[in-house]
Amino acid sequence: MTRAFNFSPGPATLPEAVLQQAQDELLDYRGCGASVLEISHRGADFMALAQRAEADLRALLTVPDEYAVLFTSGGATTVQSLLPLNFAAPGQAADYVVSGHWGQTALRQAAPVIDARIAASSEDGGFRDLPERSEWRLSPEAAYVHLTANETIHGVEWRQLPEFGSAPVIADFSSSIASEPLDISRFGVVYAGAQKNLGPAGITVLIVRRDLLESAGQPRAPILDYRAQAKAGSMLNTPPTWNWYLLGLCLRWMRDEGGVAEFANRNARKAALLYAAIDGSGGYYRNEVAARARSRMNVPFFVHDPALDPVFVAEAKQAGLIGLKGHRVLGGMRASLYNALPESGVQALVDFMQEFQKRHG
Ligand SMILES: *Cc1c(COP(=O)(O)O)cnc(C)c1O
Repeated sequence: MTRAFNFSPGPATLPEAVLQQAQDELLDYRGCGASVLEISHRGADFMALAQRAEADLRALLTVPDEYAVLFTSGGATTVQSLLPLNFAAPGQAADYVVSGHWGQTALRQAAPVIDARIAASSEDGGFRDLPERSEWRLSPEAAYVHLTANETIHGVEWRQLPEFGSAPVIADFSSSIASEPLDISRFGVVYAGAQKNLGPAGITVLIVRRDLLESAGQPRAPILDYRAQAKAGSMLNTPPTWNWYLLGLCLRWMRDEGGVAEFANRNARKAALLYAAIDGSGGYYRNEVAARARSRMNVPFFVHDPALDPVFVAEAKQAGLIGLKGHRVLGGMRASLYNALPESGVQALVDFMQEFQKRHG
């Protein structure tokens, strides 16, 4: 059996070394006499693992001390529903900059409990570009501004983050965290589901400026309270221990590979290679996103004749390239180029695309 190059948008490809290590120590976690799946989250072995993961994440992303790091379950969508409960008062306004599907989701999750406003949206243009900063309508009384750093489905990324207003910025980095250096101090909250660029599904990372944890929020159950979760080391209840463990292995792997700066270089090369192949195909393939907003992580593209879509997907699979079928919202193809996808995978995809064009041109 050989492992294919996996372009899946999420859950996504994981480093083979991580999977191998998880397999090797599955039955007996480092001399515990039990699997990491079977030990208490409050025992010394798991506590050490959890603390190491946080330390590695802090080092990898250069998280300042004034920020707490939380590991939660429920995915990024659950975070979106809890943001207004934790960071806005009942009925208070919050501004949403909507640049694609996930920005819309964030707005929808918040709308029941606050005055969630669309400060800007690129929906009119089919989310093929970013909302122009000069056209944002920020509310002076907003509790926060929410934006999506990288739109995983539409393939639109803030390559140059604009100047924000005075309200804290809450940013969904689910599909681009750790893909390049990031100045965390510009944000109130950075959050990311792990299953795109960090590790496995089932665990979500929040990086929260500590003073925001002290602000009022709304009446909420203790389990939904991020301040309480921070105090409890993300262990108010049983955390997703297996996912936390795998995330820790992935963070170590990223560190050992050279860290975020190294991945930024690799990711830039991977994206450049694929976009050049699309743009150089004479219209056989096309990507419709404005050049300034093209995502480095998720590249949606179309074959000139949609009738060829299933043929492309099937033949790509034969060639050892999987996970390329586009999201149903857009159709076509999508190649996700996360940290764990090697450059050789993108080269193989580009070679396949050129050969496919010759055969089906
Ligand atoms: C995948 C994704 C989400 C949703 O994540 P879940 O963990 O499935 O809730 C939210 N935002 C972005 C940018 C994503 O890529």
